[in-house]
Amino acid sequence: MNRDVIVIGAGIGGLTTSILLAKSGFQVRVIDQAPCAGGKLKQMHLGPYRFDRGPSLLTLPEHISELGALAGLKPFDCLRLSSVVYTQFEDGTSFSSGADVNSLALVLDEAGLASSKTVLNTFKLAARHYRITAPVFLKQSLHRWRSYFKMSTFKGIMLFPIAAVFKSMANQNASRFKNPKAQQFFNRYATYNGSNPYRAPGLLNMIPHLEFECGAYFPKQGMAAIPEYLYEAACKLGVKFIFNTRVTSVLDLNLKTKVVHTASGILKASILVCNTDVHFFYTQLAPQLKYAQRFKKAEKSSSAYVFFWGINRSFDQLQVHNIFFSKNYKQEFSTIFDAGNIPEDPTIYVHISAKVCSTDAPKGHENWFVMVNVPHNSTQLPISYGPILRQHVINKLNRMLHTQLQNHIVEESTQDPFTIERDTSSFGGSLYGNSSNSKWSAFLRHPNFKSTVKGLYFTGGSVHPGGGIPLCIFSGHITAGLIKKDYTI
Ligand SMILES: Cc1cc2nc3c(=O)[nH]c(=O)nc-3n(C[C@H](O)[C@H](O)[C@H](O)COP(=O)(O)OP(=O)(O)OC[C@H]3O[C@@H](n4cnc5c(N)ncnc54)[C@H](O)[C@@H]3O)c2cc1C
Repeated sequence: MNRDVIVIGAGIGGLTTSILLAKSGFQVRVIDQAPCAGGKLKQMHLGPYRFDRGPSLLTLPEHISELGALAGLKPFDCLRLSSVVYTQFEDGTSFSSGADVNSLALVLDEAGLASSKTVLNTFKLAARHYRITAPVFLKQSLHRWRSYFKMSTFKGIMLFPIAAVFKSMANQNASRFKNPKAQQFFNRYATYNGSNPYRAPGLLNMIPHLEFECGAYFPKQGMAAIPEYLYEAACKLGVKFIFNTRVTSVLDLNLKTKVVHTASGILKASILVCNTDVHFFYTQLAPQLKYAQRFKKAEKSSSAYVFFWGINRSFDQLQVHNIFFSKNYKQEFSTIFDAGNIPEDPTIYVHISAKVCSTDAPKGHENWFVMVNVPHNSTQLPISYGPILRQHVINKLNRMLHTQLQNHIVEESTQDPFTIERDTSSFGGSLYGNSSNSKWSAFLRHPNFKSTVKGLYFTGGSVHPGGGIPLCIFSGHITAGLIKKDYTI
């Protein structure tokens, strides 16, 4: 049996699948339009400042190290943050969360936002929900019957917290916490997969468990070190990379040999793994294939507008991750998801890697990655919204930090839904594929394979189990696992 594989895309999902398949003896080639591996996980320099362009939050780094270990690499080099996030509200209330559940419980209690007991109970439940659901819903295919004939799946389904699916995250948090600020703090976790907490199922309230119990980490060389580490592992295992090569179409999918057309020629293999956005695959690369309506119509996750600012001073109260909340959170999400518009008073996330990576900015300066959630661009946003949003962001930060930020920005660049789509083929620039805004969203993600085409598989944030670094790694494991089963001699 031929065991040669082409992977389109060197994002986290594509890298993980390649490493696992190469380790099992498959011959793997990865094609990417970009000059290096990483997909949304890329870095850039502006003068003396270094910026990660995509993800900044890292949990479960052990899964990265496990992949490196397959190629004999040392564990991935990252540090556990001494505080997960600095949070500030418009009325001046602010707190530093600390690194773990006990610290957070104490901080929220002292700030009068929630009793320690309620916070500890909330995390106890979140940990239980993660333990029950992760093996069933995140670490195996939901679309192969054999997944359901395992004792572990049966147990998971029997213990499944069904009530947490029928209540939204926001409703669940409102019934736990009286204080609106505490609700807002926990509701924000819906944005970790680009969703709306007022519609996403309460089950997603298990996300903070990953940051506060498993730990929030940051790579010592910045987030871009993640794909560099995985790329090194893949190369050591014999994976061949073809960069700067855009795939233009995929033909003969129903035959034994899949034919991949690129700008510089044709490549053939028996197995094809697609790590591009699945929507892009069906609409641009393989329009001859049937694209099921339920996947096509599923609501996409939000996108982001990011300002990269080199700042010529430091802000001692700020940390690696900082949140400046909007006054009306419900209104903000309704503007993004229902009206498809840009909120006037956005919640602002400021990430400063120079707080732990001293070479990312000159001494006494900081590299600010300033992100606002915005709709993916399938709706018509006005062309002028960038400068307007910039002004809203600067006004708000000036107000909350008592500064004149415009006088301290010495380098500047931006990234918006249009550039995210252009650079990664992600539909409308959505960050995490589909949103989790419906009860059954887990079942509305595309499977990791195409049941009608032998040898065609999918991996990454737009397919099961979803977006974000840990889930893309899980996706890579699921896809490689299916291929290994299907192609075992
Ligand atoms: C601004 C931003 C902030 C984020 N923050 C976080 C965070 O804090 N934590 C977190 O966990 N996640 C975060 N994410 C999401 C995370 O980056 C993604 O879920 C994850 O990186 C997606 O990986 P993937 O495997 O789906 O591949 P992608 O990263 O989508 O990569 C797909 C690859 O396919 C290639 N490609 C596409 N079309 C073609 C073609 N025609 N021919 C050849 N190659 C092609 C692209 O060049 C790209 O390399 C963020 C994303 C963004 C953009």
